[in-house]
Amino acid sequence: MAETSQTIGETSPGQTLEQLQAGAAGFSCVICGQPLRSEPAIRLVKSQLNACEACGSWTYLPRRSSSEQAAIHDTEEYFDHPYFALRRSVSPALIRRCRDIFGRLEQSTDIAALRGQRLLDVGCDTGGFLQAARQEFGIVPVGVDAASRSVEAMQRQGIEAHLGSIERAPSHLIDFPVITAIDLIEHVSDPAGFLREIRERLRPGGVVYLETPNIQSAVYRVGCALNRLTHGRPEGLFERLFPPQHVQYFTMTSLAGLARTAGFEVVQIQNRVLPWGDIAASMPVRTAMSAMQLLDRGLGARILIWAVLKRPASGAGRG
Ligand SMILES: [Zn+2]
Repeated sequence: MAETSQTIGETSPGQTLEQLQAGAAGFSCVICGQPLRSEPAIRLVKSQLNACEACGSWTYLPRRSSSEQAAIHDTEEYFDHPYFALRRSVSPALIRRCRDIFGRLEQSTDIAALRGQRLLDVGCDTGGFLQAARQEFGIVPVGVDAASRSVEAMQRQGIEAHLGSIERAPSHLIDFPVITAIDLIEHVSDPAGFLREIRERLRPGGVVYLETPNIQSAVYRVGCALNRLTHGRPEGLFERLFPPQHVQYFTMTSLAGLARTAGFEVVQIQNRVLPWGDIAASMPVRTAMSAMQLLDRGLGARILIWAVLKRPASGAGRG
C-alpha cells in the first residue's frame, strides 16, 4: 500500500496496473479533491476509473500530464473516429442541435444581441457547430482545438482557429459573451483549471455552455456492472464505452460543485438523451443504447449533462 497520500498527476508512466491499484486509495478525486475508492469502478487494459467517495465522479488513473493528454488527441486515428463523422457537415441534425443549444442559452442571454459578436468554441473539431451557429444566429466563429488537422481544416475555410488548450490560447481571446465546450470537459487533465480559464475569458455576465456524459445514466450503470462481472472483458467493448481520451466522468452534482468552485453561477444544469441519429455505433449497439435511454427518461438521469454557467457580472477578470 502507498504510505503517503498521492495527489493527482503523481502516477508515473512506468507504473504497472497492479502498483496503481494498490495505491489507488491514496489518490484524490480530480473534481472535488476527496479520496477515491481503492476498488476500481471500471477496469481497462492499462488503466482504470476510480469513483470518488464524496461526489460520485470517476477519475481515470494513471493521470496524464496536459501535454500527454493533448498528444492523444492529435492523431490521425482519433481524428478519423466515427463520432466526428456525424458532426462535421452542416446537416439538418447539426442545425437542430445548434438551435437546441441556443434555445438553452435564452434564459441567460439575449440571443438576438449575439449577431455580429464572436463566439468561442473550445474543442471545436473542424467547426461544424460554429458554422451552424454562424448560419443560424449570425455569430462570428472562433475555435480552439488540440488537433492540428482540425485547426488546419478551420483555417482553410477562413475561420479563426487556434491550436492547443484554452490555457495556452492567445491573449486576445477574451471578453466573449458566450463560450461553448461541448463534449470536452471529460477530456481535459485539469477540469478546475480549465473552468477558471474559461471564466477569465468570458466578459462579466457572459456564459459558458457545457455538455458531458452522465455516469448516473443507464449505459454507464450497466457498463459498470458488466465490467465488474467480467473483470473488464471483452476489452474492446470497455475501451469503446470508456475511451482513453475521457479522463473524468461527472454527475450533475459534481459538475455543479466544480463550476461553483471555479467562480461560476450555475444558471441551469439538466440532462438530455442522445438522439438516434447522433449515436455513432453499429445497429445492435444503437438499439441497445436507445433501449437504455428509455430507462434513463424514467429515472431522470439521461446520458448527457448540459449546463449553462454564468460569470458573475461583478467578478474581476483578466486585465
Ligand atoms: Zn469527488
